[in-house]
Amino acid sequence: MAEKVLIVYAHQSTGSFNAAAKDAAVTALTAQGCKVEVSDLYAMKFKASATADDITGEVKDAEHFRYGEETMLAWQEGRLSADITEEHRKLSDAEVVIFQFPMYWFTVPAIMKGWLDRVLTLGFAYTSEKRYSQGLFKDKKAMLSFTTGSQESMFSANGINGDINVTLWPLQNGILHYCGFQVLAPQIFWAPPHIPSEARRSMLEAWCTRLQGLMGETPLTFTPSDSFDGGLGFQLKEDIQEKQAASEFGLTVGTHLGKPLPPNSQVKAGV
Ligand SMILES: Cc1cc2nc3c(=O)[nH]c(=O)nc-3n(C[C@H](O)[C@H](O)[C@H](O)COP(=O)(O)OP(=O)(O)OC[C@H]3O[C@@H](n4cnc5c(N)ncnc54)[C@H](O)[C@@H]3O)c2cc1C
Repeated sequence: MAEKVLIVYAHQSTGSFNAAAKDAAVTALTAQGCKVEVSDLYAMKFKASATADDITGEVKDAEHFRYGEETMLAWQEGRLSADITEEHRKLSDAEVVIFQFPMYWFTVPAIMKGWLDRVLTLGFAYTSEKRYSQGLFKDKKAMLSFTTGSQESMFSANGINGDINVTLWPLQNGILHYCGFQVLAPQIFWAPPHIPSEARRSMLEAWCTRLQGLMGETPLTFTPSDSFDGGLGFQLKEDIQEKQAASEFGLTVGTHLGKPLPPNSQVKAGV
């Protein structure tokens, strides 16, 4: 089925591997009949810092400026800056969002973090009632597609960088799933600068093949929000803790209950 896809893309160079991955996605998805929009953050000179300049007109409390509350009010009153409003439009239209970027310091580049900070505004993207599996974007899908400088073995449970599942948890759980997105397994291009060109071509071919079936993929598993008791400081409910007691593994990377992490839960669906 044809879908509307937003690609949020962060690379400075059109000759980069990231540009090739983004272009491959645009071509493959358009060929399937998808309507694809791209936010090319460096080309747009997208502002990365969350400041009072994101609001037009008076702020409510200039002395103690609170970004979340002030931008929610501005969003309700149509007073957010034009660049945020345009990204809100693209995000509202999209059924699937792909973030394409090179890993910087174990996370997204600052310009993409700025997009997340400024576009996923309180009220529009989340509220304290509408988050995680009850989140405002629960009918949308999102995925990370990124390159690394490191080899895959460096991001393993025995590797020098530690388990990639741990690295991905803040982005995939703390941002994407927090806003309700169904999170598709990440596309990881390991170390394109350090492998032969033939291997890079194979990675791009595998990406194109994956894109053919992307819309039908099962998302990663997260613990439903009603498994936590709001009255008890959002602790895992006792009956669920009891059920989990016999399991060898914790529930998720974060809610691990002091047990070994469920293997590959942030990189593969259905585990
Ligand atoms: C500030 C900073 C922080 C970083 N932090 C981390 C970190 O925490 N962890 C980590 O692992 N890495 C880190 N890195 C490394 C970074 O993630 C990699 O350099 C980056 O992911 C490589 O992707 P690229 O698109 O920039 O590659 P490029 O260098 O642009 O491309 C790699 C190769 O692919 C070639 N190529 C381009 N197009 C094609 C095509 N169509 N087909 C085949 N080949 C093609 C290019 O010519 C080049 O030879 C960091 C880098 C910086 C600058």
